[in-house]
Amino acid sequence: MSTATLASLHPAGWPWVYGDVGVGSTCQALDRDVTCDVAVLGGGYTGLHAALDLAEAGLDTVLVEAQHIGFGASGRNGGQLVTGYNRSMAEVARLVGPEAARRLWQIAEAGKALVLERIRYHDIDCGLGRGYVSAALHRRHLREARHWYEDWVIGQAYPSLELLDRDGIWARVRSPRYIGGLLDRDGGHLDPVRFVHGLAAAATRAGVRIHERSLATVLDTGPPPGLTVNGHRVTARWVILAGNAFLGRLVRSLDGWVMPVTTHIIATERLGESGSRDLLPLGDAVADMNHILDYFRLTPDTRLVFGSGANYSGRSSPDPAAGLRRQLLRVFPQLAEVLTPHLWGGEVAITINRLPRLARLGPRVLCAHGFSGQGLALTAIAARAMADVVRGTEERFDVLARLPHQQFPGGRHLRRPLLTLSMLWFRLRDLLG
Ligand SMILES: Cc1cc2nc3c(=O)[nH]c(=O)nc-3n(C[C@H](O)[C@H](O)[C@H](O)COP(=O)(O)OP(=O)(O)OC[C@H]3O[C@@H](n4cnc5c(N)ncnc54)[C@H](O)[C@@H]3O)c2cc1C
Repeated sequence: MSTATLASLHPAGWPWVYGDVGVGSTCQALDRDVTCDVAVLGGGYTGLHAALDLAEAGLDTVLVEAQHIGFGASGRNGGQLVTGYNRSMAEVARLVGPEAARRLWQIAEAGKALVLERIRYHDIDCGLGRGYVSAALHRRHLREARHWYEDWVIGQAYPSLELLDRDGIWARVRSPRYIGGLLDRDGGHLDPVRFVHGLAAAATRAGVRIHERSLATVLDTGPPPGLTVNGHRVTARWVILAGNAFLGRLVRSLDGWVMPVTTHIIATERLGESGSRDLLPLGDAVADMNHILDYFRLTPDTRLVFGSGANYSGRSSPDPAAGLRRQLLRVFPQLAEVLTPHLWGGEVAITINRLPRLARLGPRVLCAHGFSGQGLALTAIAARAMADVVRGTEERFDVLARLPHQQFPGGRHLRRPLLTLSMLWFRLRDLLG
């Protein structure tokens, strides 16, 4: 795999203008053999959270990133801080049993708390806002909202959820499309780029040696485990793989468990205080309840950041900005005169069941990937679970690793067409209501 291969996922011509991704060239590329306690691959949330935990525990930690900090999904996402998992806890219990499901709920909650704690403790200025709305478009969604309410409030004694009727959602989201929904007072949103930079700064202060422009091309599972990076050997006691959507290129056996899916986001010009409050009076993050969903939030400088859909086919969309703008105007027709000058995109790493996948690739090689569009909170705790293992405690990792996964069917060639077909079915279901 070459650096060009990774970079080609994000064509250089894109008008990447909102949020300056990358800490630039402050971190030296790796240019010699090194030894350390832990080698971490990936300069996104997972890698940085893990490296920070390990360095804070006094371990000599080296982090290698092929491009720059935040190059992957961590520098490109919608910034929505979401509670729980992509599956209801009743479904999770069917997969792993009620006891493990209860523990998985606590683990997800600990992930959200860890993000908030890190923002506070490291004083990361990332525009944190609270409140997350799931918006119902159809009566079926209202029934689903009630199920989620019972699943969390009754099933997990979660106190922060509130059902919204038509007036309740109008008070928070001034779109004619929604007929009700759910408010999660404990969810929220943040600027993903400033958050990933804040984590990188904290990790550097804690002593992590970060190397950007440092592509790992070979994994050696050991003993001792190590990576070949820019042609140099990183020898470690432990290796943590946090390359998410790109990992299948380094480790062929991971290909098939996780599928990279391209998705785009646009941002409006500044709307001003009153313009932005006319859309989201209380400043919540919002996602609709479709399977292929719209999601949006305001930025501190009063832009609306809007994401929708995904390209499952693997072929690049001819004009993602135009499609997104059409969808934005369906949600907020009042923005017809507003410019949407910013577009960016990234790879979401999805698993079949949309739950994260943690695995051991060797006695001292761990990986976490496939956060399926819900990685802000879960990466923090998956990273901590891996750091726990390095420090000798396996319980949290083992519970997460019990989530059962299947490979995408169809082998290397048919996997993507089959996924595209199945997503068409979900699209149809969304449209039929
Ligand atoms: C457009 C978009 C919107 C999203 N919206 C949300 C949202 O609103 N809320 C939410 O919770 N989640 C969201 N997600 C998902 C979330 O961003 C991810 O789950 C999370 O960022 C994953 O973090 P990570 O560190 O595991 O992976 P990444 O951030 O992808 O980092 C992996 C890093 O590893 C590096 N790497 C890979 N291979 C190598 C190698 N061989 N050598 C060296 N380095 C390598 C890559 O360059 C990359 O920087 C979204 C994702 C996208 C793309």
